[in-house]
Amino acid sequence: MSDRQRDQRDQRDDDKHAPRRVPLLPLRDIVVFPHMVVPLFVGREKSISALEEAMGKGGYKEIFLSAQRKAKTNEPVPDDIFTVGTVGTIIQLLRLPDGTVKVLVEGKRRAAIRRFTQTEGFFTVEIEELPDVGEKSVELDALMREVHATFEGYVKLNKRIAPEILISVQTIEDPGQLADTMVGQLQLKLADKQAILEMDTPSKRLSRLYELMKAEIEILQVERKIRTRVKKQMEKTQKEYYLNEQMQAIQKELGDRDEFKNELTEMEERAKQKNLSREAQAKVKKELKKLRMMAPMSAEAAVVRNYVDWVLALPWGEKTEEKLDVIEAERILDQDHYGLKKVKERILEYLAVQALVKKLKGPILCLVGPPGVGKTSLARSIAHATGRAFVRLSLGGVRDEAEIRGHRRTYIGALPGKIIQSLKKAGSQNPVFLLDEVDKMSTDFRGDPSAALLEVLDPEQNSTFNDHYLDLDYDLSDVMFITTANYLHGIPIPLQDRMEIIQLPGYTEFEKVSIAEKYLVPKQKQDNGIADVKLDIGEDVVRDVIHFYTKEAGVRNLEREIATVCRKVARDVVAKKLPLGIDGKPEVKITPKRLPRYLGPHRFRYGRQEGANEIGLVNGLAVTMYGGDLLATEVSIVAGKGKLVLTGKLGDVMQESAQAAISYVRSRAPSLGLDRGDFYSRADIHVHLPEGAIPKDGPSAGITMCTALVSALLRVPVRRDVAMTGEITLRGRVLAIGGLKEKILAAHRSGITTVIMPKENAKDLRDIPKRVLKTLRVVLVDHMDEVLRVALVLPDAENFLKGGSVAVDWRQPVDRRDKERREESSRFPVASAVPPPSAMDDVPASDSEPPADSPLDDRHPRPTPATDIAYPTPEPAIREE
Ligand code: ADP
Repeated sequence: MSDRQRDQRDQRDDDKHAPRRVPLLPLRDIVVFPHMVVPLFVGREKSISALEEAMGKGGYKEIFLSAQRKAKTNEPVPDDIFTVGTVGTIIQLLRLPDGTVKVLVEGKRRAAIRRFTQTEGFFTVEIEELPDVGEKSVELDALMREVHATFEGYVKLNKRIAPEILISVQTIEDPGQLADTMVGQLQLKLADKQAILEMDTPSKRLSRLYELMKAEIEILQVERKIRTRVKKQMEKTQKEYYLNEQMQAIQKELGDRDEFKNELTEMEERAKQKNLSREAQAKVKKELKKLRMMAPMSAEAAVVRNYVDWVLALPWGEKTEEKLDVIEAERILDQDHYGLKKVKERILEYLAVQALVKKLKGPILCLVGPPGVGKTSLARSIAHATGRAFVRLSLGGVRDEAEIRGHRRTYIGALPGKIIQSLKKAGSQNPVFLLDEVDKMSTDFRGDPSAALLEVLDPEQNSTFNDHYLDLDYDLSDVMFITTANYLHGIPIPLQDRMEIIQLPGYTEFEKVSIAEKYLVPKQKQDNGIADVKLDIGEDVVRDVIHFYTKEAGVRNLEREIATVCRKVARDVVAKKLPLGIDGKPEVKITPKRLPRYLGPHRFRYGRQEGANEIGLVNGLAVTMYGGDLLATEVSIVAGKGKLVLTGKLGDVMQESAQAAISYVRSRAPSLGLDRGDFYSRADIHVHLPEGAIPKDGPSAGITMCTALVSALLRVPVRRDVAMTGEITLRGRVLAIGGLKEKILAAHRSGITTVIMPKENAKDLRDIPKRVLKTLRVVLVDHMDEVLRVALVLPDAENFLKGGSVAVDWRQPVDRRDKERREESSRFPVASAVPPPSAMDDVPASDSEPPADSPLDDRHPRPTPATDIAYPTPEPAIREE
């Protein structure tokens, strides 16, 4: 404890509780605490008088320092002054020239006013000193320590407190004095300070102080945080502002800014001229406003600009005038396409209804057929006939919903979907919109494009089509959608529901010849610049091109080959190699013989000369993705243990057909002269289908597989010029199949002369062109036996399998059955179908004999008519291998 402190303590002890009178100095906005030295500026008359009185009293120079309740009160009355204050001594008094006084006072002890003894001139009060309660406890020590630490933190945050204060405060050990000294350093409200002054125990004062300091520290910390943030922000905005200004200055120098402004005005102008929907208008306006505030070269500006460009580039209410003249439409369709009577009729009906209803909410047309049958060109003709623009979008390989509906603008490089892109290309809101290859879409984790397509095609929904990129409703209800597919099977069912399917099954050879002569040759002549040349391509030439250079349901390759011929002719014209006619124009006649000069050697074989009748090889008929086709089915039997091997592109259904065929053969084994049912356990059967049909087409290969199997088992060849289709049951019944037209056309194309088909399908023959039917012998069957009679090269086809079916009686014990069989074998008529090679001479000709150009060789057992010559039990064919 310092000397001065000890001094004060002594003095206070002396005057303990002795009320005495002292002049009062009312203070504004300050509370003086004991141990505090403060300079005060005094201006009020009354206060100066009080000071003078105190100075006049000689030794003590005591004065009572108490705060006014309100700082503003100029002439305070006793009630305006707090009762508790501090007795202080005047250390120094200085009169200033302006009449005011500067006084240095030191607070000594707490005291309370007992009463005012004088109120005139200045206040004199009778005071009673308040005793300092001396406390000592562990808690107080802890509190002091905590207060010290907090004060230190406070000083660090508060720049206004000099760090030396910290050192002097740290030396104070008396809790009361510590509290008083600290209060003086804190920035507290007057009321808080006064409250602390009035507290009687040091622990109360320290606790309160501690609380206040903590609160203050928190505020200071927040303040500091805000300050740094604001500072940073200020720095950033200032920097940006500065850079922007600089950039603008540079752009101005370069003339860019003006350009940007021009662009904006131009965009605004365009937006005004467009017939935007209200929603689109608002959106464009908003985006342009945003754009105006952006730096022209920034990435965001590019995004916004792109967006506005897209919106403005779309047709909004711009439509081509529709032609609703059905007669004219018919003329155009006929002019562009040969044949297709049914298809054209359906299209014209559709257009007629549209002419009456104005807005057709009807089904969407879906043209289904193999490539090159004219689906795309029909759609183009429809556009031409109705005076609409034409756009085409291929859906082949589209697997992402976003490809149809676009990406949201938040993605980098986002674009609208293909629908909107195509509409921009179309430039009108009512085009014919061809969605090509709807059967080739695929689905994966990125979403289902067919779901998005459903929305596009649904007349109830597509007036408010919402592209993710545009994020605007766009009206697609005036668009005339037409879809195409190669085969129905691949179109998602919900989509099929929305559409009217029109099948284009492929052309017959006659149709192809006509299309080539009337359409393809003139078109290619025109396209290759030889319209003037007298090019003679006769029907026989076209037929040769069809037979030897193409194998297709449509006419695309035919057109390509004709184009090749035209190109070669064009070259000859330019090289002046062609002779000139009477009219001075070059002339050239293409003959079948000269065709390879233009198109190279024959690429395909045609007709029956393709090979000899073979064992175990049968022409099936199947629907493939490219129309119908011949499907060569092979069966081979080798010694083994009854294994069935299936190879080639066989779907599950095909496997079932194969099993059914085998079961039929087994059940017929005795009648076929086979070793009853047991052949199966001693041979392996291998069925092979080299080319694949569509999976749904599996069952129709039933009779084909069965014929091949019987042929292989009996070692009887199958007629090469026969093709067949039909489903087989276990008992050998032949059931109806689908796609007959495609199949018959395929047979016709391939030079087949006889087609075996289920009787149940007879009604479908009406759809087959008469000219095709004339070239074919169509055999309607309802049982497998009939198939075998026609297809196999048999000596007595008529009576084959007519001897009644021999049932295998499984009830007999095996050894007895074998014995019986041996006995009966000599009387077994059907066994003659498989004569041993030794009995092959002197065969009389019969109806079913193989044609002369397929000579019999050693591999083929020569057919023998059914005679009553009795052969010994035939060795099972498999043993011969
Ligand atoms: P798809 O779309 O069915 O694959 P395209 O429409 O591309 O086939 O047709 C291929 C070519 O065949 C086109 O040049 C088309 O003009 C022509 N074509 C197809 N069918 C006919 C037809 N009936 N009459 C005239 N030309 C046809």
